[in-house]
Amino acid sequence: MDLSLTDEEREIREWVRTFVRREVMPLEPEVLQRERRSERGLTAEELTALQDKAKAAGFFGVHTPTEYGGMGLGAVMTALIEVELGRSFVPFRFAGDADNILFVANEEQKKAYLEPTISGERKSCFAITEPGAGSDARNIRTSARREGDEWVINGEKTFITGGNEADFAMVFAVTDPSLGADGGVTCFLVDRDMGWKSEPIDTMGEWGPASLVFDGVRVPHSAILGEEGRGFELAMRWIGKGRYLLPARALGACERLVEMGMEHARNRVTFGQPIAERQAIQWMIADSAVEIEALRWLVLAAAWQVDAGLDSRQAQSMAKLYGGQKANEIVDRVLQIHGGMGYTRELPVERWYRELRLLRIYEGTDEIQRRTIARNLLRGHVSVRGHLG
Ligand SMILES: Cc1cc2nc3c(=O)[nH]c(=O)nc-3n(C[C@H](O)[C@H](O)[C@H](O)COP(=O)(O)OP(=O)(O)OC[C@H]3O[C@@H](n4cnc5c(N)ncnc54)[C@H](O)[C@@H]3O)c2cc1C
Repeated sequence: MDLSLTDEEREIREWVRTFVRREVMPLEPEVLQRERRSERGLTAEELTALQDKAKAAGFFGVHTPTEYGGMGLGAVMTALIEVELGRSFVPFRFAGDADNILFVANEEQKKAYLEPTISGERKSCFAITEPGAGSDARNIRTSARREGDEWVINGEKTFITGGNEADFAMVFAVTDPSLGADGGVTCFLVDRDMGWKSEPIDTMGEWGPASLVFDGVRVPHSAILGEEGRGFELAMRWIGKGRYLLPARALGACERLVEMGMEHARNRVTFGQPIAERQAIQWMIADSAVEIEALRWLVLAAAWQVDAGLDSRQAQSMAKLYGGQKANEIVDRVLQIHGGMGYTRELPVERWYRELRLLRIYEGTDEIQRRTIARNLLRGHVSVRGHLG
């Protein structure tokens, strides 16, 4: 078994690592200042300028197939990249990616939605969650009723990432209540100027989602993405695509946090000795390092299974669950190592403390991941021996 990286993986990772250190991290003090003024971390212009710099070096469309102008990198490589991006809390991402389900669009839709999303001219949002249906997404109530060549959409979506900035939404609505999620949910591509409204939702983190209201919004029949009635499968495909990427990003944050914790522990003297000499502090560092290592291999094993074309759902759920849990424990320990300073807004620790909390909630809560993991085992779909058997 060879657990080392290829030369290419190492080279690409080094480039991203250097880019993050030289171009992204220097923005951190300003991002913290802005947060105190309740402003977004990066302006659209700043994000575009950074993305253009990366694009000039070939970093565009990390997940996008080469035939659409992207890099078409595999899952292990994208996970390694995500870890490096996670080392900074500056909300940076490379340009050139689009939601995976937009690739099932027909040619006309690809021109109107997929290609402009890749190029950055249009912004999408993925809208399934409703006030009455989050974990229980099969229970959505937003309806789409057919009238001739049109569909009329009524309902409310909530917690939609990018929902206040998007100019089109991938909206999941019930088109056949008798079938529900088993053939009666359809995905529609709905432009904002077709009439939906959005309202931002203030949260404890940087990622402010929005609620969307559809009040008799009329869309043409051609707005259906994929097949009528097959929307729920598309929604699961969107959610399942990159579940290993969320803990990958958290992994990068944990690495940086523990480095910060060690630096502080070496320098902070109490009772005549650096706190790094105290067993209580050393145990926090040791436990965090072990968990970081375990998380690294859960993430990479899940990504490797994706690249190998194996059914990676169990591995992805495990990485997501463990990453959410451990990242929250690690940031708590690092905050503790910093004492009172950890609690202030002078340092980014409290910011990560708030941001990493989200990982235990979105794209499947901890409880839902556990439910999936246990069910897969109990029903015999997978074994506790993992993919090695
Ligand atoms: C910042 C943010 C961004 C988001 N972005 C998007 C987005 O872009 N698009 C989108 O559609 N949605 C988005 N969501 C919604 C997110 O996916 C849901 O919040 C999440 O799935 C949980 O649903 P809920 O909030 O309704 O909680 P609920 O489903 O009401 O759950 C409440 C609690 O009960 C637990 N629970 C629920 N069912 C069970 C069960 N069967 N067994 C044990 N425990 C259970 C949950 O784990 C949780 O702890 C986002 C949410 C947030 C906070």
